Formats: sequence, structure tokens, C-alpha cells
Amino acid sequence: MRVALLAGGTGGAKLAAGVQELVGPDLSVIANTADDTRIHGLYVSPDPDLVTYWLAGEIDEERGWGIRDDTFVVNERLERLGAPGWFQLSDRDLATCLYRTHFMAEGGTLTAAQAQIARSLGATARVLPIAEERVATRVLTPAGWRGLQEFLIVDRSEPEIEAVEVQGIADASPTPEVLEALAAAEAIVIGPSNPVISIGPIVAVPGLREAMMGSGVPIVAVSPFVAGRAVKGPTEKFMAAVRRPSSAAGVASLYEGLISAMVVDADDPDEGPEGVQVLSCPTLMEGADGRRELAERVLEFAEALG
Ligand code: GDP
Repeated sequence: MRVALLAGGTGGAKLAAGVQELVGPDLSVIANTADDTRIHGLYVSPDPDLVTYWLAGEIDEERGWGIRDDTFVVNERLERLGAPGWFQLSDRDLATCLYRTHFMAEGGTLTAAQAQIARSLGATARVLPIAEERVATRVLTPAGWRGLQEFLIVDRSEPEIEAVEVQGIADASPTPEVLEALAAAEAIVIGPSNPVISIGPIVAVPGLREAMMGSGVPIVAVSPFVAGRAVKGPTEKFMAAVRRPSSAAGVASLYEGLISAMVVDADDPDEGPEGVQVLSCPTLMEGADGRRELAERVLEFAEALG
């Protein structure tokens, strides 16, 4: 089954790893690039890289980010030299960023850089950035606008969120590779990622929603709430910022008109969404088995809908 999966860096990436086990190269992950930023002059692309490390089996599963057993020699040295140390990049992670920055400085596209990174690290699925244009999420706090990474890391997601916007989104367009993956897909899955800052920017790229719906295949979202709560990260805070309840129904309301079905957690205390087909099952992905089991259920559900 050819699958296109929309993902941020954790929930969607874990599901992508499970789906890759089932369909291998027939999986295309459409990864959020609105988290991208520049650190030490390097082009850092957190979500596509996290997806790649999950697919390549390199992720530090305990910590949930970065590469397992990696060292921070360069980062420590940079800090000693006086560079800002708030964005921690381990040595191998820095190599990825160096490679991508140079690749693009030489005239390569972000898509081609990411394809080479995924291929060389051993991912069998494809990892597709949403757009070539630079798009950047920022958050309005009482102290003013903050870049997303500064808000998440330096501010520890603590300030009140007055508004969220994705700079550059109106001028972005889906890449030909993304459009091809959507057109060829037999199922489109929206991973259990933060609906506002991970999936929000993807579906906001002009033409992306139309391409998803134009594919004519089932579009299934997986809720990021497990037993009614986010597994990790400030999902509830961002849901409140867009004035939606932190529930599967709240997530479904953000994807209204786009999805035909939703997978919700069997232990959710709230009513599931209305107006779409619902599959209720355990959705916490623990270990490789957990990731593969949820992937199996999601693809079987999509197949039955198709
Ligand atoms: P980030 O860029 O690392 O914040 O990643 P995402 O936006 O992709 O992921 C954050 C979301 O993943 C949170 O809302 C979590 O609740 C969700 N998540 C993480 N692990 C799981 C899981 O095992 N199952 C489900 N259903 N959601 C998960």
C-alpha cells in the first residue's frame, strides 16, 4: 500500500517508523519544515531530521530527540568559544546540518539534501520537506514575537500564547515530490503530531489541502491524545491558543473538511469526533512492536474505508 504520512518530529515520526516496517519504500513522510532555523550559521531542520533518525533506527528513544549514544564535543567547544548554547546539537546531528547547509549553498534543494540524508543513513521510506520556500512558525507572547525554537527551548513553552503564525506560508508551495506522493498514495495519514505547530503549517501550504483531497483516497488522522492527554510536549497549550479543546474531537475540528476518518485512543475520557468514521484502539506506541501495531491498525482501517 502506498502511504503518504504527514508528520512533525515525535508522534508522527514514531508512527512513520511503524508504517515503514510494513510498506518500506512505499511510504512518503511529508515533514514539517516550519520549525527550521539557523544555529551557528547552519540550516537546522528539526522535524525532517527527527523523522529520518526514527526511520534509520538512530533516534535516542529515551530522550525523544537526537541520536542515540552521540557525543556533544563540538557543541561544548562552540559554547566555550562563546557561541549560544541553548540549542543542543550532538556531533552527528551537527554533521547532518553541516551537510545540508553546504549542499544548499552549492545550489542543491532542501528536498534533495533531505533525500540524500535519509538514503545514506538507511531509511527506506522517503522524507519530504513540505516546501522549498522558507516558512517559520512564531509565537506571540506578552513579551513579543518569539521564534518557535526560542519559545519551546529558551522559554520552556511557559509564556502565555497570544497568537501563532507561520511566516512565509502564503508564498510557499508544495514541492513536486510532495504533490507526486499525495497523488500516488492509496491512503493519506495525518500522524499524531501537534496539530497546531507540526501539522498546522503543512496543511496551510497553499494547494496542499486541495492536493490531499484531490487524491480521492481516505484521509485518516491519528489523535495525539492518549487517555485524554498529550504524551509529550505543549500540545494542550497550543490547542488552547487556537481555542480548541484538548481532545480528539478538538483535533478533528482543526482538520474539518479534510479528514474522512480518525483513530482515537481507547482510553480517552471524551466523546470522539462526530461526522467522521472513528476507530477506537490503543494508540500509545511503546517500542517497535507498539509502533508497528498502531501502523497495522491505521492501514487496515484506511484500507477498509477505501
Ligand atoms: P515534536 O515536533 O517533537 O513536538 O513532535 P510532534 O508534534 O510530532 O509530536 C508531539 C505529539 O506527539 C504530542 O501531542 C504527543 O501527544 C504525540 N505523541 C507522542 N507519542 C505518541 C504516541 O505514542 N501515541 C500518540 N497517539 N501520540 C503520541
